[in-house]
Amino acid sequence: MLPEIEKLLVLQDRDQRIRTLKTELKNAPIERKDLETRLAATAAGAEKAKAALRELEVEKKRLEVEAQGKRDQINRFKTQQMQTRKNEEFQALANEIAHFEKEIGKIEDRELEVMEQIEAAKPVLAEAERKVVEARSLVASQIADLETKIATLTETLKTMEAERASLTEGIDEDLLDQYNRLFVSKGGNAVVALEHEVCTGCHMKLTTQTLVRVRGGQQITHCEQCGRILYWTV
Ligand SMILES: [Zn+2]
Repeated sequence: MLPEIEKLLVLQDRDQRIRTLKTELKNAPIERKDLETRLAATAAGAEKAKAALRELEVEKKRLEVEAQGKRDQINRFKTQQMQTRKNEEFQALANEIAHFEKEIGKIEDRELEVMEQIEAAKPVLAEAERKVVEARSLVASQIADLETKIATLTETLKTMEAERASLTEGIDEDLLDQYNRLFVSKGGNAVVALEHEVCTGCHMKLTTQTLVRVRGGQQITHCEQCGRILYWTV
């Protein structure tokens, strides 16, 4: 194999690792955002449960006040009954009282329903709040792990990029330039093997002339289909 091809393969291996590190670093903020979004959704669930309970408690209070208002009214009717001498008026007041008592009965039934709903809503809220506590601690530790990972990746990337310069030593400048452009345009595969008369970069069958040149191992040869640099291992 041409010494330059060997050097390019070492360089390409390094460049692929750098590329992977960069992708991981690029995805890290997205991972972080995902974690935060999940936590926010859990917190929103707890807020909703809390609001539902609060609403029921407000309704219970409102019913209590309404029932009390009607009881007060009944007391006023009773006072009026004691003061009246007219039988007709007395009877009218008695009808009012009966009507109000019936109303109070309805309100009290509704109060019982609301109280049952409150009892049912309490454990729902407790569970939702427990989930928030759990998620908060889990997400905090996941974010801490992610930050450690980012720090490690950044450090490794720095070292790899520094070392890369020494790996390009001894490679012809034009060839290096070709390689760099191919690496970017061909998705990180600039130098590829020849296998069973096929370029492993584009999977196209190569011409006899190209095959002979690659196997000869005397010069840099490109795939006539995709332009990648070819090498052959026995
Ligand atoms: Zn090809």
